[in-house]
Order: sequence, then C-alpha cells, then structure tokens
Amino acid sequence: MPKLAAKTCLITGAARGIGLAIATRFIEEGAEVILTDLDEVAGANAARELGARFIQLDVSQESDWRRLAEQVPALDVLVNNAGITGLESGTTPQDPEHATLEAWHAVHRVNLDGTFFGCRYAIGAMKAKGTGSIINLSSRSALVGIPGAAAYASSKAAIRNHSKTVALYCAQQGWAIRCNSIHPGAILTPMWEAMLGDGPGREARLAALTAQTPLKRFGTPAEVAAVALLLASDEAAYMTGAELNLDGGLLAGSAVSPGE
Ligand code: NAP
Repeated sequence: MPKLAAKTCLITGAARGIGLAIATRFIEEGAEVILTDLDEVAGANAARELGARFIQLDVSQESDWRRLAEQVPALDVLVNNAGITGLESGTTPQDPEHATLEAWHAVHRVNLDGTFFGCRYAIGAMKAKGTGSIINLSSRSALVGIPGAAAYASSKAAIRNHSKTVALYCAQQGWAIRCNSIHPGAILTPMWEAMLGDGPGREARLAALTAQTPLKRFGTPAEVAAVALLLASDEAAYMTGAELNLDGGLLAGSAVSPGE
C-alpha cells in the first residue's frame, strides 16, 4: 500500500538535492507532488522528468506565497526545504566578526522568512480538512555553533523553534496539523560545491568533513527523503513538535571522550 496515496504534497527548493530526492520518494509512494523552486528552468525540467507539476516560487517573497495560495488552496503535506548557506558565492564572509548586516539578512530572508511564510500558508491550506503535515528542513547547525556560517546556524536554530510553535498552535486549535523538523548533518548535495571546490584539494576536504562523523561518510539525499516520508505519512500521526537528527551520529557525542 503506498504510504502517501491521495495526498497532495508541495516541496520548496525541489529542483535538486534533498528537495528533489523528497519529491522523487513521495511520488514513488503515490503522492501528487508539486515541485517548487526559485530556478524555473531546473525546477520545470526536474518536474517534467518526474511527471509532476512545477510552480516557480521564491520562498523569501510574500507575494509568491500569496500567488501560490490561490493556485494550490488545499494541501496535505508541505516540505519547507529551500535554504541557502550564504557561502554560495565563495566571497561573502559569514563569520560573526566580518558578516555584513545585508549578508546576515539575506540568509534569514530565505531560510527563516521562507519557512515562516511556508508554515503560515500551509496552516491556511490544511485547516479546512483539519489534518496535515508540515516538515521543516532545519540542520545540525541549529543545535551547535558554526563559526564560519553564523547566519545559517542562527536561521536554522530559529526554524527548529518555530516548528515547535507551529506544532503547539495547531494542536491548540484542535487540528491534527503536525509540524516537525529534520536536522541533517552533512548530506552530499550541490549545496556543498562552493565549500568543496574542485581540483586536488577536493578529496582531502571531503575526508576532513567526514573525519569527525562516527559513521565516517556523508549522508545521501535519499536518506533524508526516507525520514521526510515517515513524517509525511499517517504512520507518524502522533509526532508533532519533534526534531529528528540525521547526522551519522555526530550529535550523539563530543570530541573529548574519556576512555579512547
Ligand atoms: P541545494 O542542493 O543547494 O538545493 C537547494 C535548492 O533550493 C536549490 O534548487 C535552490 O535553487 C533552491 N533555492 C535557493 N533559494 C531559494 C529561494 N529563495 N526560493 C526557492 N528556492 C530556493 O541544497 P540541499 O543540500 O538540497 O539542502 C536542502 C535543505 O536542507 C536546505 O534547507 C539546507 O539548509 C538543508 N540542509 C542541508 C544539509 C546538507 O548537508 N546538504 C545539511 C543540513 C540541512 P537555486 O539553484 O536557484 O539556488
């Protein structure tokens, strides 16, 4: 029995990476999936390959969400996946000493404002039925400090907290609209490209990034999609306000470990 039969699911930032893997998995499980992304060409191509619908959506723009609410007034599952690190250009400092206010705001506009708009839209699109699942892509960076990506870590921490607020608000209203957050560690997607670069140092940088991870590897987008599927399905009907870590064991321990 497909786990998402007859469910309409919308995913932001779905042109590639984790969002695309979630769209693919949800379709395999019988969902009617709407892919959305800032990148109209990549998003439309991805949707065509999957046989799904595509709507262009910049998550940081309130007007885009208003337009979306008219096009898709009812929904069962929303995945707030679109996100940026601020490191994409490779030139913008993101540490707490040198980051500009504009750079700080730019990351929060996409990651945090985008998730706020998404949750607000989803509540409106789910409350008539009184059921639904909102899944927010937070990060391991929500739970620890990240010296070189201050705005990213701050925005992901705020997403973690807002997910719980949304969960409690919906429960208070008497709706079975659940809201949970996923906290991936390092998942190998195009997001990492600016940080990994190419050339001879790439392999060493890949190895360095996974050296501290107990499972000693990157996670895969499909592994994140499997957790999103659980949260989207009715099997997780009693899960709301929860946070699921998916990090190869990184957050389970610490660098200083007696007995080694
Ligand atoms: P990705 O490969 O960079 O894909 C992100 C997608 O979001 C891209 O298609 C991008 O489009 C789109 N996007 C960017 N800004 C947008 C906007 N304003 N409106 C709509 N779409 C926008 O990233 P990913 O690795 O799959 O990450 C997906 C989510 O997981 C993010 O929220 C990320 O923070 C979170 N996460 C990832 C990791 C990881 O290790 N990969 C770890 C923890 C959390 P463009 O190509 O046009 O920019």
